[in-house]
Amino acid sequence: MRTLLKGGLVISGTETRRADVLIEGEAILAVGTDLPEEGARVVDCSGKLLFPGFIDGHTHFDLPVAGTVTADDFASGSRAALRGGTTMVVDFAAPDKGETLRHGLDLWREKAAGKCACDYGFHMTIDDWNGGISREIGEMMDEGVSTFKMYMTYPAMMIPEGDMYSALLRLKEVGGVAGVHCENSGIIDALIARAKAEGKLSPASHPRTRPAPLEAEAVGHLLRMAQLADTPVIVVHLSTAASLEEVRAARKRGQTVYVETCPHYLLLEDSVYDSPEYREAAKFVCAPPIRKKEDREALWAALRGGEIQTVATDHCSFTLAQKDMGREDFTRIPGGLPGVETRGVLLYTAGVAAGRITLQDMCRLLCENPAKLYGCWPRKGTIAPGSDGDVVVYDPAADSVITAADQAMNVDYSPYEGFPTAGSVAQVYLRGALAVDHGEVLAPPEGRFIPRGKCVL
Ligand code: MN
Repeated sequence: MRTLLKGGLVISGTETRRADVLIEGEAILAVGTDLPEEGARVVDCSGKLLFPGFIDGHTHFDLPVAGTVTADDFASGSRAALRGGTTMVVDFAAPDKGETLRHGLDLWREKAAGKCACDYGFHMTIDDWNGGISREIGEMMDEGVSTFKMYMTYPAMMIPEGDMYSALLRLKEVGGVAGVHCENSGIIDALIARAKAEGKLSPASHPRTRPAPLEAEAVGHLLRMAQLADTPVIVVHLSTAASLEEVRAARKRGQTVYVETCPHYLLLEDSVYDSPEYREAAKFVCAPPIRKKEDREALWAALRGGEIQTVATDHCSFTLAQKDMGREDFTRIPGGLPGVETRGVLLYTAGVAAGRITLQDMCRLLCENPAKLYGCWPRKGTIAPGSDGDVVVYDPAADSVITAADQAMNVDYSPYEGFPTAGSVAQVYLRGALAVDHGEVLAPPEGRFIPRGKCVL
């Protein structure tokens, strides 16, 4: 089947040009002016922006957390992703300590198989270290799992820093890259103990026990380890101006550092935790926590300046009833925000339409850079002949309002309730098939596992 997207503005990381996009079967056949209409379903895209399908490099679907499981599994999460223009997610396979990486990969492939409506890949979590896991890292690369995750906080996930260093060396050997959650665990634990001793058990204690300097300290710590190992790393969900300073210092030393941030750090500020109403505050609990206005502005400047490579969601959703688990103790609130559905429209509205970033910036942050960073370029991340026919048709004139009532995510709130958008996603094509039409998800759960290679960013 042929589809001709006619007369839209095609966005890349370097230019915007008026062009037709001809998709045949699952792939893009041609991009150019006045392409032949014969045999094609012709779709008028005049006045629309055509982005490559967005890639979300940070989601947690069907993840057991603190005695519960995320509200979104691969079925609801992937439908929400598609609805927001995201045609591929990279989720985190997370074996428990004592298990093999193979077991983690099998488990996550099983969670996604036959359920996922968008394409997907997996990062592999390294939360244990031994000879077997070191060997398995090579096998994971062969399986198309080329990125890994390590934690500097959460005892269930952390490994000693000597092991972390060994893991970095092993990843360097095979050409894998680690994304790392950077927060200083020990001092956070001490601050939590103090808050509890003082009876300060409400959600307001959450940001106070995970202050900005403890993220920056861990970023600096990681980057010195990476310097010694002489290997690139990804700082995931970077949220503060101080952390950016650590990244700049490492880059000045000649290191390659990739940085990811998330929409909630770009749009919200820490006053969200001040509400005396438990749920109003608890629904924003995530780690790192929402930061201050100055941090937010520093992040926007860094997006503009190319210091941040990608905006992913860290989608990790819980219902308000699940958030109630921490009513008596803020440390028991399952941490994470829903976001996989709204990233594109938020970045367009608060970024492009507000004049903070350009269309090219947006395309690099959501499409090109994640495709290169996560090793699926140029199959994904670009509208070019031979690439998968993943296209987001964005209507800049179709303003809307974000509400929980109108979302596919399996949660009963939105962190952005009432947020007026500039434009919205009109259609989404996944490998040549119309997957979303004006909010209606048409794609069957036939998303594919996309094997990924080495980072080319
Ligand atoms: Mn995460």
